[in-house]
Amino acid sequence: PSAMKEVLVEVSNVRWSDIGGLEDLKLKLKQAVEWPLRHPEAFARMGITPPRGVLMFGPPGCSKTMIAKALATESKVNFLNIKGPELFSKWVGESEKAVREIFRKARQVAPSIIFIDEIDALGGERGFSNGNGSNVQERVLAQLLIELDGVTTLGSVTLVAATNRPDKIDKALLRPGRLDRIIYVGLPDEETRREIFNIKLQNMPIAKEENIEDKVNIDDLVSLTEGYTGAEIQAICHEAAMKALEENLNATVIVKKHFKAAFKIVTPRTSNSLLQIY
Ligand code: ATP
Repeated sequence: PSAMKEVLVEVSNVRWSDIGGLEDLKLKLKQAVEWPLRHPEAFARMGITPPRGVLMFGPPGCSKTMIAKALATESKVNFLNIKGPELFSKWVGESEKAVREIFRKARQVAPSIIFIDEIDALGGERGFSNGNGSNVQERVLAQLLIELDGVTTLGSVTLVAATNRPDKIDKALLRPGRLDRIIYVGLPDEETRREIFNIKLQNMPIAKEENIEDKVNIDDLVSLTEGYTGAEIQAICHEAAMKALEENLNATVIVKKHFKAAFKIVTPRTSNSLLQIY
């Protein structure tokens, strides 16, 4: 059986409303991806070509994957979800064929979004090559460029890529007509953290009545999570609930001390050296 059967088309169900904050960013991406997919005629009328691809970069856990999925859901298009390193591990010896197959499938189910997470795995360093392009990373990258340049029915297949290491990306991918919209998705600011907490806590029984001494104060959570990623905020909420259950499996409410305990477990991991490359 061919390994190629593993290129799966997903139905994504992440909505913009599941993603806290980041309003400017959502708008930019809607314009770059959702508009051309949904209204290709408007771009034709204006005599402009929509981007073939966008690149999101920034620290892990800050919603790049969620954004890609929301783009697919809200544009009502099919979603093909690929991790860069998988191109080498899952399709050993067939990596270029996999790239061709992914684009073939995407055209077949168009309009569609191909999401390639960790696209830096395709490499930018040419140090190990013998110069004849026989390095597998180079060949996969070359195939990706061919496919991207060949997307002729503009707007119907869009590549959305993500990376934590934009410095490792081959510059050829960033030329005009390729991944030419580049968007930074950074650590959540105060407003974004507040919205993430509101989303994550909305179905959790937290103590919030004014008269309770133990009540959970969202303002405090927001100021205590400066430097935390969205994923770490999610983890804080999860751990607080686990603390309440550890204390009593019949617990019906999560109070301040549970969050306090959660903050001891979940600390921000994004390194300064990573932030410095952005
Ligand atoms: P990676 O680089 O590790 O793939 P990522 O940037 O793609 O990370 P996601 O996988 O989209 O990050 O986010 C991880 C988790 O963090 C999500 O499942 C979600 O629970 C939470 N999260 C991050 N940012 C937000 C946000 N703005 N709103 C709601 N949830 C968020």
